Amino acid sequence: MSQCKHLKTFLWETLKPFIGIDKPPFKILGIDNNLYKVKSTSVRLRTFKRSNICVRCGRVGDIICLDIDKKWRSNGKRNPHLNLYNKDPKRGPILITKDHIIPKSLGGSDKLSNMQTMCELCNGKKAAIPNIKDIHRLETKELQDKLRRVVNDHNCKMGKIKRKRKKNKKKGKK
Ligand SMILES: [Zn+2]
Repeated sequence: MSQCKHLKTFLWETLKPFIGIDKPPFKILGIDNNLYKVKSTSVRLRTFKRSNICVRCGRVGDIICLDIDKKWRSNGKRNPHLNLYNKDPKRGPILITKDHIIPKSLGGSDKLSNMQTMCELCNGKKAAIPNIKDIHRLETKELQDKLRRVVNDHNCKMGKIKRKRKKNKKKGKK
């Protein structure tokens, strides 16, 4: 499932205090004895610092790994970065991801205020469908109104598609 190779694993609580604070990238010694520079201030990691729990299923991000891409990039780098995982005893590590509350495809921003924590399993099911249940995680009335509009538009669209399908079914019977 994972596209990354784990070079080192930490407990989330060990690295959490450094997330979002350390401006220059911090360096981590991999198990291969190389020093890897990683960014600790990304919106993704700051989303996890706010909460490391999946908003849908409650899965907890409890381990954070120094990961590199399995494949070499064209620029000769392997993109060292930190990934949060839930250590699931049955399925192996489940990646914890950031989710756009208002989907990007519907005009949602890439800022922390539009992000929530979601495991990869729940995020895969959600796709780019806005959910009114997430409204209390948006901090401003403006963003909340935007989510309402986006959800309404989405529901209208789905309603129209359903009605069209029904109509076509009826036509087909005649
Ligand atoms: Zn989940």
